[in-house]
Amino acid sequence: MPKISEEHSKIGASQMHRVMGCPGSVALCEKAPPQRPSKDAEEGTKAHTVCERILKGAEPWELVGEVPLEMIEAAEAYVEHIKSLGEGKLLIEYKFHLERLDERAFGTADAVLIKDDEIHVIDYKYGAGHAVEVEDNPQLIFYALGVLEQYKRNKIHLWIIQPRAAHDDGPIRGVIMTRIDLAGWFVKFRSAIIESMKPDAELIVGDWCRWCQAFPICPAQGKIAIADAKHDFTAIEPIELPSGSLLTSDQISAVLKQKPIIEAWLKSVEEYAEQELAVGHDIPGFKVVAGRGSRSWADENEAKKFLLRELKGNAYESKLISIAKAEKYKISIPANLIKVNSGLPHIAPINDKRKAFKRDLSNEFGEVKCD
Ligand code: SF4
Repeated sequence: MPKISEEHSKIGASQMHRVMGCPGSVALCEKAPPQRPSKDAEEGTKAHTVCERILKGAEPWELVGEVPLEMIEAAEAYVEHIKSLGEGKLLIEYKFHLERLDERAFGTADAVLIKDDEIHVIDYKYGAGHAVEVEDNPQLIFYALGVLEQYKRNKIHLWIIQPRAAHDDGPIRGVIMTRIDLAGWFVKFRSAIIESMKPDAELIVGDWCRWCQAFPICPAQGKIAIADAKHDFTAIEPIELPSGSLLTSDQISAVLKQKPIIEAWLKSVEEYAEQELAVGHDIPGFKVVAGRGSRSWADENEAKKFLLRELKGNAYESKLISIAKAEKYKISIPANLIKVNSGLPHIAPINDKRKAFKRDLSNEFGEVKCD
């Protein structure tokens, strides 16, 4: 999701994946109506602010009551990792203009640590739904290219810190690249930008559509899944969706590949409907209702004094730190204290880095007897 500082940049780090996948999107986004930040985007912005404040010296407890505890704990994991990288010049929310790539290319890296012989570029993700890969990640690579404009080093560590999403490699994932590797990506980015400037630049639907500002007006989206699922979505008549068991393997594959696009399309229709209702237009069968509010202490210090006086020891609650946090203290944890809860198997694209799960069927059918 784009960060505030990159929002007005036509060629920003968070857009590179889309620019490379769909060259026509750059021109179409120019014509798209401005988007209200989604709830996820607002939450992400708040989570980044929490990280920045802790990194700049705020005590995590100072934020209790102001933002959810989960947001503070996630930010602590981010800050701890940065501290574990050792001494160096730390740049927080590092802004750059990658003019050599394109005059519209701007970016803001969450954190950058400059050392004598290497650079660490750290990107924080608060989202829990989609675990982001660190390898060949155009957003991180764009940040690294921006940093290299000013700080020349040969070894660049790229990090994704995503405390809330499950990933086999854990919440902190890193990869090392050289300046030569990055120079190759510079060429790829430049070619994609040149392609996007052609008057007939193609519109190509893909997972990059999820964050595309042009989604509500994109002519390519009208073709969502129609060809593959053989349903006429344009008629907007009641559609009978066949159950999975009635589809061929190829049809199932086609439908599953469209899942992110269909979800993004539904979301964009919902957001558009919300905007329409908000300005008084009618969408039959729907209305806008007030969101659930939340309560927080108006004055933390006064609340603390009051609760300590009234509740004494009950004013605070403490809980055990996580295994990951305990491991940071470099203690040896007895194996019998750790229970491994394996996740339920679930479907993933064939290019997913994890090994395919093989179910042991021998116990599921019992003994097979032959007459
Ligand atoms: S919605 Fe998808 S296909 Fe359409 S312009 Fe955006 S990225 Fe391209």
